[in-house]
Amino acid sequence: MLRIHSIESFGTHEGPGIRFVLFLQGCFFKCLYCHNPDTISLEWGKMMSVEDIVKQVIQVKPYFRGKWGFTVSGGEPLIQAKELFPLFKKLKKEWIHIAVDTNGFWRNDDVKNLIPLVDLFLVDIKHINNDWHQKLTGKSNENILKFVDYLESIGKAMRIRYVLVTGWTDQEEYIKELGEKFWFYKNIERIEILPYHQLGVYKWKELWRKYWLEGIPSTKIEQAEEVKKQLEAYFKKVVIRA
Ligand code: SF4
Repeated sequence: MLRIHSIESFGTHEGPGIRFVLFLQGCFFKCLYCHNPDTISLEWGKMMSVEDIVKQVIQVKPYFRGKWGFTVSGGEPLIQAKELFPLFKKLKKEWIHIAVDTNGFWRNDDVKNLIPLVDLFLVDIKHINNDWHQKLTGKSNENILKFVDYLESIGKAMRIRYVLVTGWTDQEEYIKELGEKFWFYKNIERIEILPYHQLGVYKWKELWRKYWLEGIPSTKIEQAEEVKKQLEAYFKKVVIRA
């Protein structure tokens, strides 16, 4: 059984083509800009069996031709790596492309066992600088960098996702550091810049929680274009996911 938050049958932002996206409940980060704060608690959500999830995925399969697949997101999906294993096994029997959208923090044997079943990782690098990372998420980025190194060492395909927040993640020296750290990783398919937006703010208010980035404006497309240009000095493919 998996603790899920929600399902989106026709997602377009979480991996190549159209995706069946399963959002899992639970995360140990507290990102100041989290646009799904209702996914953080491990107590909330509802339980769903692997069989029921597979049934739903198989039901939509005939509607798609070409690029299509399954993505697990969250929250932080790898917290439930053990429970994901039988699900991924079943999906692989159906030749379904599997992507995992993760913050890359969670590392244990269950995660290690899951990796061979995953076709693509979407790894969120919240900040390349550890101090800023801790300010932004409440956690160190050490595990994440080790996770990316591990994926590189086994040649597992991945994309880096980077949320661009004015005054928090757009500092030129850290964009440079990000490029210098990863430019030679052969497994990185592309960098995705995600301009920060305020669409999730109402959720924080509904949860009666303080939103710490109040007053930080949504990132303008021109700002994202500027950072894209900086990153293109290091990576062949950089895209803006607006
Ligand atoms: S890692 Fe994702 S789900 Fe977790 S707090 Fe950060 S943005 Fe929210």
